[in-house]
Amino acid sequence: MGEDAKRTVIARHFAKRQEKRIVEVPFLVASDVEEVGVELRVSPTQGHATVDLGLRDVHGVRGWSGGARQVVWVGEETASPGYVAGPLPAGEWAVLLGLYEVPDAGVSVEIAMEMRLKAPRWLRGDFHAHSIHSDGAFSLTEALDKAEEQGLDFLALTDHNTVSQNLNVPRDARVLGIPGMEFTTYDGHANFIGAVYPIDDFRAASREDVYRLMRTAAERGAVVSLNHPFESSCPSCAWRWGMEAPADAVEVWNGPWRPDNERALRWWHQALLSGRRLVAIGGSDVHNLENPYVRHGHPCTWVYSPARRTADILTAVRQGHVFITADPDGPRIEVECGSYRMGDRVPRHVTDATTIRVREVEAGDEVRIIPGVGDVLRWRAQSPGEYVCEVQEPRPPFLRVEVWRWSPTFQTEVLVALSNPLYFELGDLA
Ligand SMILES: [Zn+2]
Repeated sequence: MGEDAKRTVIARHFAKRQEKRIVEVPFLVASDVEEVGVELRVSPTQGHATVDLGLRDVHGVRGWSGGARQVVWVGEETASPGYVAGPLPAGEWAVLLGLYEVPDAGVSVEIAMEMRLKAPRWLRGDFHAHSIHSDGAFSLTEALDKAEEQGLDFLALTDHNTVSQNLNVPRDARVLGIPGMEFTTYDGHANFIGAVYPIDDFRAASREDVYRLMRTAAERGAVVSLNHPFESSCPSCAWRWGMEAPADAVEVWNGPWRPDNERALRWWHQALLSGRRLVAIGGSDVHNLENPYVRHGHPCTWVYSPARRTADILTAVRQGHVFITADPDGPRIEVECGSYRMGDRVPRHVTDATTIRVREVEAGDEVRIIPGVGDVLRWRAQSPGEYVCEVQEPRPPFLRVEVWRWSPTFQTEVLVALSNPLYFELGDLA
């Protein structure tokens, strides 16, 4: 929990005569709450006390953890073990305290309540990961734990040609598991992100079959992404079903930065120039821990989402409210014009300057502002910190940002951050 959380602390004292009762400590949940967190601290005046913990929502008991935990949370799609994830109805809830053992002098408890409010913010995640449900080494719980270690908010579970992972997404993990499938053919791979059953049968013998399955996945709510389209390390991984395939997104950044990704980036830029608005996303494609450079959240895809909820994250991806960084630490890119941000199309009547802000650049980083028409603007950071630039007229069809850094390991410049474009409506000039 962080900035958008409301924290309240309630203190209570219970007497010996209340032992073995289950008491309620009521609190109010507003309609804009995304997650309820409770932390219980028990301080017996003297001797030993056991206070059990549970939660009631407006309808009834929402969960019970007895004496097993002091910290619990309930959200729409995830909750602590012992608690049920689901909608958070507004109204009077209560912390349930089971006064199992109370010493003669009584017991004092402190209940810290944290309510995370629904608020648009940048969430960090990974749209490409494997588990034991295909050829990965991690159980789903291990995969989500690894993602949590990297500080991620969500992880798409994209096993090859199967949905069994989607039927087993752990809902008691701190990281939101998003259903997925890597549609895997002998002539290329595409990710179906966000649908439990994107397709019924993955077998495809022709381009028509492949495109039909991609459309089916989209109709069933999945974001469709062309994976590592120019991958050269395996004979069947590059996308050979035609780049005009019906996709929402393209994985321009797969695993560590390398020439195959550079080709994908160049191809994507050409697609943007031709007027095709594909959203650039990233995916680690992590299967195991064999390669030290392939890790959950490397690269990390940042999504500007109204809440940490699968449906909101998918919508934000379709809108292109997305940038990618080499790892979950940044640098963070923001491209804004008035109330519009990367992925949006700025209407002609909005005449604000466009603000480009890159946080957490390192000395030596090169920030490149790349317009759809005209010269690339380059700026080399002399010191670490924040880079801010305003761009006014003339307006290009789009503007996007890259940040490059010298890698001593690979002895070359590598991409460390990539924004999606902010588009401009140009009218007659276009
Ligand atoms: Zn693949």
